[in-house]
Amino acid sequence: MTKSEFNQIQVILGKKRPDKPHKNTFPFTGLMKCGECGKVVTAEHKYKKQKNGNKHHYIYYHCTAKNKSICSQSVVNQKEISKQMIDIVNSIKVPRDFVKWALEVIKKQNNAEVQTRISIIESQRKAYDKCSTKIDTLIEMRINGELLEEEFSNKKKDIQEEKERLNKIINNVDSKADKWMGEVEDVFNFSEMISTKFENSDDLTKKKIIRNICSNLYLKDKKVSIQLKKPFEELQVVSKFIRNESIVVRTAGNSLDKRKTALSYGQFPTMLRESDSNRRPIG
Ligand SMILES: [Zn+2]
Repeated sequence: MTKSEFNQIQVILGKKRPDKPHKNTFPFTGLMKCGECGKVVTAEHKYKKQKNGNKHHYIYYHCTAKNKSICSQSVVNQKEISKQMIDIVNSIKVPRDFVKWALEVIKKQNNAEVQTRISIIESQRKAYDKCSTKIDTLIEMRINGELLEEEFSNKKKDIQEEKERLNKIINNVDSKADKWMGEVEDVFNFSEMISTKFENSDDLTKKKIIRNICSNLYLKDKKVSIQLKKPFEELQVVSKFIRNESIVVRTAGNSLDKRKTALSYGQFPTMLRESDSNRRPIG
């Protein structure tokens, strides 16, 4: 997930204000390309009058190719696209009890990591303190005339650089892990609330949600095809998995199956974590 994608999630969760208002009134324009010719898919309003005088309003999506010799795709009603988009969004939804459970597992894992972090910080701090002692010794040596001014300042400079380096490591270990935890929680909360949010949100938010979770959107023969972005790809795997597994748990009702499910659930946080190695805390 990039920084801007993460910011978008924050906006959708209501933690951040959106960048700027947009005038585009269609929820799914600017997102899809035609699966036949690769041109942009656009939309327009259509008004139809029935024989009995009733007026109907439709929104049609279509490829922007100029004529049928380039592209044979026909128009698609927004309702059809909307249905498919809802399915896509629902496919990454994970149930609330799983979210709770997974966050607990991650917190436990994080506690174990805290221990590792503490020992990293301790050893770095010892090294840091040693640097301070070395500087004291240097000063003493300089006072006693055992070191020339140039030697003294060169050595002091080296030690101070080392001190700064250690200080950076100490600060990084702490903040990285906490930040990572927050992001995981946000992704989970996002996936848990996403389908309700999607169906009840305005066109612009719908577009933002789709843009955040999908890439490579194509429309062909009235079918939307997409690629899920990370980490939603993994969430979809988990979501599918839970839906199948929970049936087993419900019907079998024996502790062995429950344990098996729990074990499989347990692999998920690791999966999510491995999907973005950049964000792993040191250690
Ligand atoms: Zn086309």
